[in-house]
Amino acid sequence: MKHVDFAVIGGSYAGLSAALQLARARRQVLVVDAGVRRNRCVDEAGETSHGFLTQDGRAPAEIAAVAKQQLLAYGTVQWMEGLADEAHVAADGRLAFRVGETTVSAGRLILATGVRDELPPVPGLAERWGRSVFHCPYCHGHEMNAGPIGIVASSPLAQHHGLMLADWGTPTLFLNGAVAPDNDELAALQRRGTRVETTPIDRIEGHADVLLKDGRRLVMNGLFAQPRTHLASPVAQQLGCALEEGPTGPFIRVDPGQATRVTHVFACGDAARAAGNVTLAVADGAMAAFSAHRSTMF
Ligand code: FAD
Ligand code: MG
Repeated sequence: MKHVDFAVIGGSYAGLSAALQLARARRQVLVVDAGVRRNRCVDEAGETSHGFLTQDGRAPAEIAAVAKQQLLAYGTVQWMEGLADEAHVAADGRLAFRVGETTVSAGRLILATGVRDELPPVPGLAERWGRSVFHCPYCHGHEMNAGPIGIVASSPLAQHHGLMLADWGTPTLFLNGAVAPDNDELAALQRRGTRVETTPIDRIEGHADVLLKDGRRLVMNGLFAQPRTHLASPVAQQLGCALEEGPTGPFIRVDPGQATRVTHVFACGDAARAAGNVTLAVADGAMAAFSAHRSTMF
């Protein structure tokens, strides 16, 4: 049994940011991390992360590694590799969970466990996730070089992509039998100059070539999809945190101070917002830490 004042589950951007603030408040903090970041596919593709101040165009793994190195320089931080599970509120009111053979008991718990993406089952799409297939125009739209952009529809968010991406290039919205825009929606797409393709997709090839069922090949600079998101870990549900349904999937409900409805449990990052990025994860993590810290005295 391991007793700690503060535990953070998830040691990526949100969790690292939370732990840094607690370490700087001279508190003992344990970070438990399974090492499966949402954007690891970007590293695997040799691509880079965008939009996070001072780190634009840097590999996601490098950003996390520098943050971890700076965090571990504080003497009050312990790092545990592994998967936290069986989280619950113990009889004494503390927050408990297991990591392998170890039971951890924490006074305050910050969940920074992220989400997992489920891509539509279009052959060739998943292999290109993080290389030439993305979901966030702000993160990767600029790299489309103002050229042809394909939008592979799988949810009503495809309409948003169809309208937005015209700012980053010349979009083609592939309905692929997944969505059927009404006349108003089609008119809005047309006003933005977005082409609508109704022939279903057979597969993706090359960098971002869309092969249609009728044999045509449309060469794109990149593709955008609308993956369904799932909480990466069940620990929030195990504890009894409330969830909310966002446009891409469920996320943990938090108040403006990142507190969940479970006393002394806070949540931050992609797991606790409708849509996230590195900047927002870092901000949420800091806020979660401020709230968790102050809850010990006020
Ligand atoms: P994550 O980074 O997903 O980290 C969660 C961590 O918690 C992981 O290490 C995981 O292993 C750990 N964990 C989960 N459950 C447990 C458990 N039970 N026990 C222990 N550890 C656990 N954002 C940008 O700002 N710019 C970009 O250019 C950009 N590009 C992207 C490209 C792609 C293809 C994708 C998918 C995302 C991109 N993002 C980008 C978004 C960015 O990846 C996320 O917003 C960010 O990773 C969220 O950080 P997080 O700390 O909340 O979660
Ligand atoms: Mg918030």
